[in-house]
Amino acid sequence: LLSACENAATVQPKEKTKEQEDITPVPDEKIKIGFSMDTLEEERWLRDRDLFKAAVESLGAEVEIMAANGDDALQVLQAESLISQGIDLLVVVPHNAEASATIVKKAHLAGIKVLSYDRLIKNADIDLYISFDNIRIGELQAEAITKLVPKGRYVYIGGAATDYNAHLLKQGVFNVLQPFIEKGDITVVYDQWTKNWVPTNAYMNMQEALNANNNNIDAVIAANDATAGMAIQVITESVLAAVIPVAGQDAELAAAQRIVEGTQTMTVYKPIPTLAEEAARLAVKMAKGEYIDTNRKINNGKIEVPSVLLSPIAVDITNIDHTIIADGFHLEEDVYGSD
Ligand code: BGC
Repeated sequence: LLSACENAATVQPKEKTKEQEDITPVPDEKIKIGFSMDTLEEERWLRDRDLFKAAVESLGAEVEIMAANGDDALQVLQAESLISQGIDLLVVVPHNAEASATIVKKAHLAGIKVLSYDRLIKNADIDLYISFDNIRIGELQAEAITKLVPKGRYVYIGGAATDYNAHLLKQGVFNVLQPFIEKGDITVVYDQWTKNWVPTNAYMNMQEALNANNNNIDAVIAANDATAGMAIQVITESVLAAVIPVAGQDAELAAAQRIVEGTQTMTVYKPIPTLAEEAARLAVKMAKGEYIDTNRKINNGKIEVPSVLLSPIAVDITNIDHTIIADGFHLEEDVYGSD
Protein backbone atom coordinates (compact mmCIF):
# COMPACT_ATOMS: atom_id res chain seq x y z
CA LEU A 1 0.00 0.00 0.00
CA LEU A 2 1.17 3.50 -0.75
CA SER A 3 1.15 5.92 2.15
CA ALA A 4 -0.61 9.24 1.67
CA CYS A 5 2.76 10.88 1.30
CA GLU A 6 4.04 8.59 -1.41
CA ASN A 7 0.76 8.92 -3.19
CA ALA A 8 0.98 12.69 -3.16
CA ALA A 9 4.53 12.54 -4.44
CA THR A 10 3.48 10.59 -7.50
CA VAL A 11 1.05 13.29 -8.63
CA GLN A 12 2.75 15.17 -11.46
CA PRO A 13 2.01 18.83 -12.15
CA LYS A 14 0.01 19.24 -15.36
CA GLU A 15 1.93 20.46 -18.38
CA LYS A 16 1.12 24.04 -19.25
CA THR A 17 -0.27 24.86 -22.68
CA LYS A 18 1.51 27.47 -24.80
CA GLU A 19 -1.26 30.01 -24.07
CA GLN A 20 -1.03 29.44 -20.32
CA GLU A 21 2.70 30.00 -20.42
CA ASP A 22 2.20 33.33 -22.16
CA ILE A 23 -0.17 34.61 -19.50
CA THR A 24 1.62 33.11 -16.47
CA PRO A 25 3.33 36.00 -14.69
CA VAL A 26 7.07 35.72 -14.13
CA PRO A 27 7.32 34.21 -10.64
CA ASP A 28 8.19 36.79 -8.03
CA GLU A 29 11.70 36.79 -6.70
CA LYS A 30 12.09 34.85 -3.50
CA ILE A 31 10.87 36.57 -0.35
CA LYS A 32 13.89 37.78 1.58
CA ILE A 33 13.82 38.14 5.36
CA GLY A 34 16.46 40.06 7.33
CA PHE A 35 17.30 38.73 10.81
CA SER A 36 19.09 41.23 13.02
CA MET A 37 20.31 39.54 16.20
CA ASP A 38 21.81 41.06 19.32
CA THR A 39 24.23 38.30 20.15
CA LEU A 40 25.15 34.68 19.60
CA GLU A 41 26.65 34.40 23.09
CA GLU A 42 24.14 32.19 24.87
CA GLU A 43 23.69 28.67 23.54
CA ARG A 44 20.04 29.41 22.73
CA TRP A 45 20.75 32.12 20.14
CA LEU A 46 22.69 29.70 17.93
CA ARG A 47 19.66 27.47 17.99
CA ASP A 48 17.36 30.43 17.20
CA ARG A 49 19.58 31.38 14.28
CA ASP A 50 19.82 27.90 12.79
CA LEU A 51 16.17 26.96 13.31
CA PHE A 52 14.88 30.29 12.03
CA LYS A 53 17.03 29.99 8.90
CA ALA A 54 15.89 26.43 8.26
CA ALA A 55 12.25 27.36 8.80
CA VAL A 56 12.38 30.38 6.48
CA GLU A 57 14.07 28.30 3.80
CA SER A 58 11.54 25.50 4.13
CA LEU A 59 8.89 28.10 3.33
CA GLY A 60 10.66 28.86 0.07
CA ALA A 61 12.05 32.19 1.27
CA GLU A 62 15.59 33.23 2.09
CA VAL A 63 17.17 34.95 5.06
CA GLU A 64 20.13 37.23 5.66
CA ILE A 65 21.41 37.13 9.25
CA MET A 66 23.60 39.54 11.21
CA ALA A 67 24.58 39.57 14.90
CA ALA A 68 25.78 42.70 16.67
CA ASN A 69 27.73 41.32 19.67
CA GLY A 70 25.77 43.42 22.11
CA ASP A 71 26.65 46.68 20.37
CA ASP A 72 23.67 49.03 19.85
CA ALA A 73 25.31 51.18 17.19
CA LEU A 74 26.47 48.11 15.29
CA GLN A 75 22.99 46.61 15.42
CA VAL A 76 21.56 49.77 13.82
CA LEU A 77 24.26 49.70 11.11
CA GLN A 78 23.61 46.04 10.42
CA ALA A 79 19.88 46.64 10.21
CA GLU A 80 20.52 49.48 7.74
CA SER A 81 22.66 47.17 5.70
CA LEU A 82 19.90 44.54 5.65
CA ILE A 83 17.35 47.17 4.65
CA SER A 84 19.57 48.33 1.80
CA GLN A 85 19.86 44.74 0.58
CA GLY A 86 16.21 44.85 -0.37
CA ILE A 87 14.72 42.59 2.29
CA ASP A 88 10.94 42.22 2.38
CA LEU A 89 10.66 42.07 6.16
CA LEU A 90 12.95 42.62 9.13
CA VAL A 91 13.04 40.40 12.21
CA VAL A 92 14.90 41.92 15.18
CA VAL A 93 16.19 40.56 18.48
CA PRO A 94 17.02 43.95 20.00
CA HIS A 95 20.03 44.37 22.24
CA ASN A 96 18.57 47.56 23.63
CA ALA A 97 14.78 47.82 23.90
CA GLU A 98 14.75 51.60 23.51
CA ALA A 99 17.67 52.26 21.15
CA SER A 100 16.34 49.76 18.63
CA ALA A 101 13.27 51.94 17.98
CA THR A 102 15.54 53.68 15.43
CA ILE A 103 15.72 50.44 13.49
CA VAL A 104 11.93 50.29 13.25
CA LYS A 105 11.77 53.87 11.94
CA LYS A 106 14.39 53.17 9.30
CA ALA A 107 12.71 49.97 8.18
CA HIS A 108 9.31 51.65 7.95
CA LEU A 109 10.75 54.51 5.90
CA ALA A 110 11.83 51.85 3.43
CA GLY A 111 8.36 50.26 3.54
CA ILE A 112 9.57 47.22 5.47
CA LYS A 113 7.59 45.75 8.38
CA VAL A 114 9.32 44.73 11.60
CA LEU A 115 8.80 41.68 13.78
CA SER A 116 10.25 41.89 17.30
CA TYR A 117 11.66 38.44 18.14
CA ASP A 118 11.87 37.16 21.74
CA ARG A 119 12.52 40.69 23.07
CA LEU A 120 10.15 43.63 22.77
CA ILE A 121 11.25 46.83 21.04
CA LYS A 122 9.88 49.67 23.16
CA ASN A 123 8.28 52.91 22.00
CA ALA A 124 8.13 52.04 18.34
CA ASP A 125 5.43 51.10 15.83
CA ILE A 126 6.50 47.48 15.55
CA ASP A 127 4.20 45.31 13.49
CA LEU A 128 4.38 42.08 15.48
CA TYR A 129 6.00 40.65 18.60
CA ILE A 130 6.59 36.99 19.26
CA SER A 131 8.09 35.57 22.42
CA PHE A 132 7.54 33.34 25.38
CA ASP A 133 5.52 34.74 28.25
CA ASN A 134 8.38 36.28 30.19
CA ILE A 135 6.28 37.27 33.22
CA ARG A 136 5.22 33.63 33.48
CA ILE A 137 8.88 32.53 33.32
CA GLY A 138 9.67 34.64 36.39
CA GLU A 139 6.60 33.28 38.15
CA LEU A 140 7.59 29.69 37.40
CA GLN A 141 11.04 30.32 38.86
CA ALA A 142 9.71 31.90 42.06
CA GLU A 143 6.96 29.28 42.44
CA ALA A 144 9.56 26.52 42.34
CA ILE A 145 11.94 28.19 44.78
CA THR A 146 9.32 29.37 47.29
CA LYS A 147 8.06 25.79 47.51
CA LEU A 148 11.52 24.78 48.74
CA VAL A 149 12.30 27.94 50.67
CA PRO A 150 9.04 29.49 51.91
CA LYS A 151 10.98 31.56 54.44
CA GLY A 152 14.40 33.04 54.02
CA ARG A 153 16.84 35.47 52.52
CA TYR A 154 16.63 35.67 48.72
CA VAL A 155 19.12 36.94 46.15
CA TYR A 156 17.82 38.12 42.78
CA ILE A 157 20.34 38.20 39.94
CA GLY A 158 18.51 40.09 37.21
CA GLY A 159 19.09 40.26 33.47
CA ALA A 160 20.26 43.28 31.46
CA ALA A 161 18.33 46.43 32.34
CA THR A 162 18.42 47.38 28.66
CA ASP A 163 16.47 44.21 27.73
CA TYR A 164 12.74 44.55 28.40
CA ASN A 165 12.57 40.81 29.05
CA ALA A 166 14.66 41.35 32.15
CA HIS A 167 11.95 43.66 33.51
CA LEU A 168 9.17 41.21 32.71
CA LEU A 169 11.07 38.33 34.30
CA LYS A 170 11.62 40.35 37.44
CA GLN A 171 7.97 41.36 37.51
CA GLY A 172 6.99 37.70 37.40
CA VAL A 173 9.39 36.78 40.21
CA PHE A 174 8.09 39.54 42.45
CA ASN A 175 4.44 38.71 41.65
CA VAL A 176 5.08 35.46 43.48
CA LEU A 177 7.47 36.75 46.17
CA GLN A 178 5.38 39.76 47.19
CA PRO A 179 2.90 38.00 49.52
CA PHE A 180 5.81 36.21 51.24
CA ILE A 181 7.63 39.52 51.59
CA GLU A 182 4.53 41.17 53.06
CA LYS A 183 4.15 38.38 55.62
CA GLY A 184 7.77 38.92 56.59
CA ASP A 185 8.71 35.38 55.58
CA ILE A 186 10.97 36.29 52.67
CA THR A 187 13.46 39.14 52.49
CA VAL A 188 15.17 40.00 49.25
CA VAL A 189 18.66 40.81 50.51
CA TYR A 190 20.22 41.50 47.11
CA ASP A 191 18.69 42.56 43.81
CA GLN A 192 20.82 43.73 40.87
CA TRP A 193 20.71 43.79 37.07
CA THR A 194 23.46 41.99 35.16
CA LYS A 195 24.93 44.51 32.76
CA ASN A 196 24.49 43.25 29.17
CA TRP A 197 23.68 39.77 30.54
CA VAL A 198 27.45 39.19 30.71
CA PRO A 199 28.13 36.18 32.99
CA THR A 200 31.26 37.71 34.58
CA ASN A 201 29.08 40.63 35.72
CA ALA A 202 26.71 38.13 37.33
CA TYR A 203 29.70 36.48 38.99
CA MET A 204 30.77 39.79 40.53
CA ASN A 205 27.20 40.57 41.61
CA MET A 206 26.91 37.22 43.31
CA GLN A 207 30.19 37.77 45.16
CA GLU A 208 28.86 41.13 46.27
CA ALA A 209 25.61 39.49 47.39
CA LEU A 210 27.46 37.00 49.59
CA ASN A 211 29.89 39.57 51.01
CA ALA A 212 27.14 42.05 51.83
CA ASN A 213 25.22 39.34 53.68
CA ASN A 214 28.07 37.49 55.37
CA ASN A 215 27.17 34.46 53.26
CA ASN A 216 23.79 34.40 54.97
CA ILE A 217 21.46 33.66 52.06
CA ASP A 218 18.93 30.89 51.47
CA ALA A 219 17.95 31.00 47.79
CA VAL A 220 18.93 32.52 44.47
CA ILE A 221 16.77 33.34 41.48
CA ALA A 222 18.80 34.23 38.40
CA ALA A 223 17.37 35.66 35.19
CA ASN A 224 18.91 32.99 32.95
CA ASP A 225 21.05 29.88 33.08
CA ALA A 226 24.28 31.67 32.23
CA THR A 227 23.87 33.95 35.25
CA ALA A 228 22.61 31.06 37.40
CA GLY A 229 25.78 29.17 36.48
CA MET A 230 27.88 32.04 37.79
CA ALA A 231 25.85 32.25 41.00
CA ILE A 232 26.41 28.53 41.53
CA GLN A 233 30.13 28.92 40.87
CA VAL A 234 30.39 31.64 43.50
CA ILE A 235 28.42 29.53 45.98
CA THR A 236 30.64 26.52 45.30
CA GLU A 237 33.80 28.58 45.76
CA SER A 238 32.52 30.14 48.98
CA VAL A 239 32.54 28.71 52.47
CA LEU A 240 28.79 28.04 52.31
CA ALA A 241 28.26 24.50 53.47
CA ALA A 242 24.63 24.15 52.44
CA VAL A 243 23.42 23.66 48.91
CA ILE A 244 21.43 26.76 48.08
CA PRO A 245 18.44 26.41 45.75
CA VAL A 246 19.10 28.28 42.48
CA ALA A 247 16.73 28.92 39.57
CA GLY A 248 17.62 29.87 36.01
CA GLN A 249 15.98 29.77 32.56
CA ASP A 250 16.78 28.68 28.98
CA ALA A 251 17.33 24.95 29.60
CA GLU A 252 20.94 25.30 28.49
CA LEU A 253 22.85 22.03 28.41
CA ALA A 254 25.10 23.11 31.30
CA ALA A 255 22.01 23.93 33.37
CA ALA A 256 20.42 20.57 32.58
CA GLN A 257 23.65 18.92 33.73
CA ARG A 258 23.66 20.96 36.93
CA ILE A 259 20.05 19.93 37.60
CA VAL A 260 21.07 16.30 37.31
CA GLU A 261 24.12 16.91 39.53
CA GLY A 262 21.96 18.74 42.05
CA THR A 263 23.64 22.15 42.02
CA GLN A 264 20.83 23.93 40.14
CA THR A 265 17.25 23.47 41.29
CA MET A 266 15.34 24.29 38.15
CA THR A 267 15.39 25.97 34.79
CA VAL A 268 12.64 27.21 32.52
CA TYR A 269 12.47 25.45 29.19
CA LYS A 270 11.40 27.47 26.18
CA PRO A 271 11.02 25.21 23.14
CA ILE A 272 13.01 27.32 20.70
CA PRO A 273 11.89 25.34 17.62
CA THR A 274 8.32 26.51 18.23
CA LEU A 275 9.42 30.13 18.51
CA ALA A 276 11.69 30.03 15.47
CA GLU A 277 9.21 28.18 13.28
CA GLU A 278 6.26 30.32 14.27
CA ALA A 279 8.29 33.49 13.78
CA ALA A 280 9.42 32.30 10.35
CA ARG A 281 5.88 31.43 9.31
CA LEU A 282 4.52 34.80 10.44
CA ALA A 283 7.46 36.71 8.95
CA VAL A 284 6.99 35.15 5.51
CA LYS A 285 3.23 35.68 5.69
CA MET A 286 3.67 39.32 6.61
CA ALA A 287 6.29 39.80 3.92
CA LYS A 288 3.68 38.59 1.41
CA GLY A 289 1.28 41.20 2.75
CA GLU A 290 -1.04 38.63 4.28
CA TYR A 291 -3.12 39.40 7.35
CA ILE A 292 -1.81 38.10 10.68
CA ASP A 293 -4.30 37.18 13.34
CA THR A 294 -2.90 37.36 16.87
CA ASN A 295 -4.63 36.71 20.14
CA ARG A 296 -2.72 39.17 22.29
CA LYS A 297 -1.88 42.86 22.38
CA ILE A 298 1.07 44.12 24.41
CA ASN A 299 1.72 47.77 25.12
CA ASN A 300 5.27 48.79 24.27
CA GLY A 301 4.93 52.36 25.52
CA LYS A 302 3.72 53.63 22.15
CA ILE A 303 1.21 51.21 20.69
CA GLU A 304 -0.68 48.02 21.46
CA VAL A 305 1.54 45.56 19.63
CA PRO A 306 -0.11 42.48 18.06
CA SER A 307 1.64 39.69 19.92
CA VAL A 308 2.10 35.96 20.07
CA LEU A 309 3.16 34.61 23.47
CA LEU A 310 4.24 31.00 23.82
CA SER A 311 4.15 29.02 27.06
CA PRO A 312 7.33 28.29 29.02
CA ILE A 313 7.76 25.05 30.98
CA ALA A 314 9.33 24.67 34.44
CA VAL A 315 11.93 21.90 34.51
CA ASP A 316 13.53 20.23 37.51
CA ILE A 317 14.92 16.79 38.27
CA THR A 318 11.42 15.28 38.37
CA ASN A 319 10.42 16.12 34.80
CA ILE A 320 13.66 16.70 32.89
CA ASP A 321 13.32 13.31 31.13
CA HIS A 322 9.76 14.02 30.00
CA THR A 323 10.46 17.54 28.76
CA ILE A 324 13.80 18.62 27.35
CA ILE A 325 15.10 15.09 26.83
CA ALA A 326 11.84 13.66 25.43
CA ASP A 327 11.67 16.60 23.01
CA GLY A 328 15.25 16.00 21.86
CA PHE A 329 16.17 19.51 23.01
CA HIS A 330 19.17 17.82 24.63
CA LEU A 331 20.37 14.25 24.32
CA GLU A 332 20.07 12.04 27.38
CA GLU A 333 23.77 11.10 27.18
CA ASP A 334 24.77 14.77 27.07
CA VAL A 335 22.67 15.62 30.12
CA TYR A 336 23.56 12.59 32.23
CA GLY A 337 27.05 11.92 30.86
CA SER A 338 28.03 8.59 29.36
CA ASP A 339 29.16 6.86 32.58
C1 BGC B 1 16.26 35.90 26.53
C2 BGC B 1 16.95 34.80 27.29
C3 BGC B 1 18.46 34.98 27.21
C4 BGC B 1 18.85 36.40 27.57
C5 BGC B 1 20.31 36.67 27.36
C6 BGC B 1 16.71 37.23 27.04
O1 BGC B 1 16.09 38.27 26.39
O2 BGC B 1 14.86 35.75 26.62
O3 BGC B 1 16.57 33.55 26.77
O4 BGC B 1 19.13 34.11 28.07
O5 BGC B 1 18.10 37.32 26.82
O6 BGC B 1 20.67 36.58 26.03
